[in-house]
Amino acid sequence: MMRQLPLIIFVALLGVGPLVLPEFHVTLLNYIGLYAIVAVGLVLLTGVGGLTSFGQAAFVGLGAYTTAWLTTTYGVSPWLTLLIGLVLTGIVALFLGFITLRMGGHYLPLGTIAWGISLYFLFGNVEFLGGHTGITGIPTVSLFGWELKSGREFYYLIWLVVLLAIVSIRNLLDSREGRAIRALKGGAVMAEAMGVNTPRAKIVIFLIAALLASISGWLYAHLQRFVNPTPFSITQGIEYLFMAVVGGVGHVWGAVLGAGLITILKQWLQDWLPQILGQSGNFEIIVFGIAMVLVLQKARDGLWPVILRWLPERSLKRDVPAAEALPKRAPQPAGTVLLDASEVTKRFGGLVANNNMSLSVKAGEVMALIGPNGAGKSTMFNCISAVNPATEGKIAFLGESTAPLVARDIASRGMSRTFQHVRLLGQMSVLENVAIGAHLRGNKGVLAAALRFDRAEEARLLAEAARQIERVGLKDHMFDAAGSLALGQQRIVEIARALASDPCLLLLDEPAAGLRYREKQALADLLRRLRAEGMGILLVEHDMDFVMGLADRVVVMEFGEKIAEGEPEEVQRDPKVLEAYLGGVE
Ligand code: ADP
Ligand code: MG
Repeated sequence: MMRQLPLIIFVALLGVGPLVLPEFHVTLLNYIGLYAIVAVGLVLLTGVGGLTSFGQAAFVGLGAYTTAWLTTTYGVSPWLTLLIGLVLTGIVALFLGFITLRMGGHYLPLGTIAWGISLYFLFGNVEFLGGHTGITGIPTVSLFGWELKSGREFYYLIWLVVLLAIVSIRNLLDSREGRAIRALKGGAVMAEAMGVNTPRAKIVIFLIAALLASISGWLYAHLQRFVNPTPFSITQGIEYLFMAVVGGVGHVWGAVLGAGLITILKQWLQDWLPQILGQSGNFEIIVFGIAMVLVLQKARDGLWPVILRWLPERSLKRDVPAAEALPKRAPQPAGTVLLDASEVTKRFGGLVANNNMSLSVKAGEVMALIGPNGAGKSTMFNCISAVNPATEGKIAFLGESTAPLVARDIASRGMSRTFQHVRLLGQMSVLENVAIGAHLRGNKGVLAAALRFDRAEEARLLAEAARQIERVGLKDHMFDAAGSLALGQQRIVEIARALASDPCLLLLDEPAAGLRYREKQALADLLRRLRAEGMGILLVEHDMDFVMGLADRVVVMEFGEKIAEGEPEEVQRDPKVLEAYLGGVE
């Protein structure tokens, strides 16, 4: 209740606003609401997902023009045109998304500018849309027989949409799909290896952001009762992005803050600057630009985190409801060949990092892959898990060639891995990080998450994540930010995350690095138990005592090639291995 108090106060203030405020302020709040709806979408797309779009104003225009044209020309009901506008925006967004979201780096924002400008000129140059004069005489909207004629009445519809958008996006982010979306920025490789379809997740957030913009456009058209192309220009697109960034890139409420601040500041500057300077002109844009640069310098994460300091403290702690266990994969009988890699070669330009490498892993065994730094062990892991596929060679997992598969397909067949350079989402709790590993063990989608119809499944996923965290001995850190743990512990979190996918083959890249003696012993015990359960483990490790006490078989690599293979005792006596490890010394 205490935690909800600020929200309750905010909603109460919103509710009484139009009853007490002068006309001008209600109008301002209406605009803030309209902008906030677009900015919420941008927080999801840009702030959380890391995909920068300058073109959102064009989607606002699509929603606005669809209803303007259909209601004035054909007398279609506004509620129907809302749906039609959403469908149309959805189609356009899917089309543009498929083209632009493939582009990386600065090409993506440039792409959004390109289509943002194109759509703007389309609105202005199509004759039946009224050219640059636009369309007038757009009808009012009625809500359950209540005609929203004035801005004061329309206000409630706008802010209802704002609140619904915020609640549903927050719900979404706190779900299985939400974790996948939060992994897009900075964790895409890891997410793919955990089974997340990242291109699809990108399209999904692009679509959601476009649909929110379209709804804002529809509201705008029926509030103003006329439309022309100006508010859908690229300038406005940039302003939407400002709002999302200034408010708080990763915070949904930041969208409202950003929309509010920028709208009010702009209004204020427009009123006062000409008076102060004694001449008219678009001076506000200049001040605005400077303010933006300052915010980006001083508060990179936007201003919402500054506000959060004043609100009741929130931790990453949450309830993990008891839930029935998730169904498990049928185990492979001990001795089954899980992985069979033969003659794998991986080239990076002229560098041959893996040359003709062969190895196999059976169910119920620990296979160790050892060799000096730079020998090509991690590269081999990447080939096997298709994180960075092999140039040549055959890799079969459970008897099936992995050549046509991408990392997430291989994950879905029961292979999971950790990374030598830890890939955790540092701001998220250990629990949520591990839950990403269980991504493929749920199937509730975005809509179910937004509407909270996924809670039973979510409870099972989180309970599974919690179980794996306990199993690896990190129960006390379950609600800590993953980035706050010691590096050795972070590696253990990676193991828990891999285990949460219920794999039959586990690839561990230097899991014991950075662990203390006791922790190493606990890890070795865990791996022995997993082996006894029938799991196959491929292990890269430098600590020879750890490896030799645990491995059933060992493959030794040097300069990308296999130089020895056999049981630990054999390999340790092999002159080539001694040479590789001690060669420089003696
Ligand atoms: P290990 O894990 O055995 O220490 P790696 O597999 O990380 O070795 O590296 C093997 C070789 O491949 C090194 O020379 C490394 O510099 C090179 N290498 C690894 N990844 C890449 C990459 N993505 N691009 C270019 N070279 C790479
Ligand atoms: Mg390595």
